Amino acid sequence: MDEKKTELFYQPKNGYDRIDTAERLALEEYCRGYMAYLDAARTEREAVTEAVKLAEAAGFASLESLEGPIRPGQKVYLNNRGKSLLLAVGGKKPMKDGFVVTAAHIDSPRLDLKQLPLFEDAELGYFRTHYYGGIKKYQWTAIPLEIHGVVALKDGSTVEVVIGRDPADPQFVVTDLLPHLAADQMQKTLAKGVEGEKLCILAGSVPYAGEGAERVKLAVMSLLNDRYGITEEDLISAELEAVPAFDVRQLGLDRSMIGGYGQDDRVCAYAELAAILEQTEPERTAVCILADKEEIGSVGVSGMRGQVFERFIEALCGGSCGVQESFSASFCVSADVTAAFDPMYPEVSERQNAARLNYGVGLCKFTGSRGKSGASDASAELVAYMRRICAEAGVLWQMCELGKVDQGGGGTVAGFMADRDIDTIDAGVPVLSMHAPFETTSKLDCYMTYKCMKAAYEAK
Ligand code: MN
Ligand code: MN
Repeated sequence: MDEKKTELFYQPKNGYDRIDTAERLALEEYCRGYMAYLDAARTEREAVTEAVKLAEAAGFASLESLEGPIRPGQKVYLNNRGKSLLLAVGGKKPMKDGFVVTAAHIDSPRLDLKQLPLFEDAELGYFRTHYYGGIKKYQWTAIPLEIHGVVALKDGSTVEVVIGRDPADPQFVVTDLLPHLAADQMQKTLAKGVEGEKLCILAGSVPYAGEGAERVKLAVMSLLNDRYGITEEDLISAELEAVPAFDVRQLGLDRSMIGGYGQDDRVCAYAELAAILEQTEPERTAVCILADKEEIGSVGVSGMRGQVFERFIEALCGGSCGVQESFSASFCVSADVTAAFDPMYPEVSERQNAARLNYGVGLCKFTGSRGKSGASDASAELVAYMRRICAEAGVLWQMCELGKVDQGGGGTVAGFMADRDIDTIDAGVPVLSMHAPFETTSKLDCYMTYKCMKAAYEAK
C-alpha cells in the first residue's frame, strides 16, 4: 500500500530532508549576502542604492548607454528617481519573442514623519508620523527606531539623513502606557489600543537655554540644523522614515532562520537581484524590477502601475518591435512573500494549503480575498510550467494559499503585470510575523526563492 501511496499521493517533505551538504553550504553563503543587503537597505531608496552598487560591480551600465535593441549579454539598469530599479540582461532571442521578468517590491511598512512633524508637549519634543502600509500599531511602540530619508532643499540639492544606524548615534522610540495605568487601554481592541495620531516619536527633552515657550522644540530643531543645515520649513519637502533599529540576525539555536525588518519584500527583491546578476546570456532577455509603493497599492511614478516599466521595455526593444508585442510573449514571476503557517495561530490557516517554513519557495496560483476578489489568477498551464522548471533546476517549492477562505487575504504586483498581457504567477518566501517590525523567514526558503528566480531566467 505504501508503494501505491508513493506512486499516487503528493507527499511534500521538509526541505532539510531533501538537500545535501553542498546545498546547505550554498544556502548559508547565499543568506550571508542577503542578510548584509537587508541590514544596509532599510528604505526603498537605500534598497535601490545598494542594488545599484551590486549591479555596477557585476558590469551593469546605465540605460542611457543603450543604443538600439539590447544585445545578447548586454547589461543595463534604469534607476527610477532613486526609488525603484529596473535591470536587464540581453537574451539570445529578440525582444519580440518576449522576456522573463521577475518583479518584487522594496518598500516596507514604516512610520513616515509628517511634513510638519515637530512639536513640544510637557517639555518633551516629538515628531508626528503617518504610518505607511498595513501595520499593527501596537507593535511599533517601545521599540528602538532609526530615521532614514532625505530632505530636499529649495536650491535643488538633497540632504541625506540617517540617524540611529551608527552605534554612536542616538535612536528613537514611540512610548507606550505602563501596564499599571493601562486598565482602560487594555479593554480596547488591538486595533484601537494605540491610535495612529499617538504614534509620535520622542525626539528630545532638553530645553534651549533662555526663557519662553517651545524651548525643547527649538533645541531639537537646532540640533537638526547643526547636523544637516536645515530649518523647519525644509522638513516640508522631506521624506523621513522611522524604521525599526533592530540588526538583522540569525534566529534559533540551529541558526536556521533570519530575523529582520523589511523582509517583505526585500527578501524576494534580493533573490531576483542575485539571480539576474549571475546571468550572462540567457535565452530570452532577463528583466528584474525592484518596485516601490506596493504596500499602498502600487500607485505613482515609482509603483508597478506606473509607466516606467513601459519606458524601460521600449528602450530594450529599441524599435525592433512594439512594447505590447513583447509583453504578450513574456513571462513574469511576481516575487512576493506569503504567510507561513504559524502553529501558534493555526486557526487562520487551512493546513493542507498553507506554506510551511523550510518547504521551499511558495508558489501562489491566486491571491486576493473573499472569493479570490482582486486576485491575479495564474493559469493551470502556468502552474504546470513552474512545476517543470523548478523540477529541472532542483528548486524546492510548495503550493500555498494566504490564509483560510474568508479569513482575509492580500495582493501583490501580479495583477498589474497580468493586466499588461504578461502571463504572471506569484512566488516567494513564506514569512512569520509579516509586516511586524521584526519579521522571520527560513534560510532554506530564502535560498530556494533565489533558485526559483534563477530557474525562471534560465529556463529553456
Ligand atoms: Mn509584499
Ligand atoms: Mn506587504
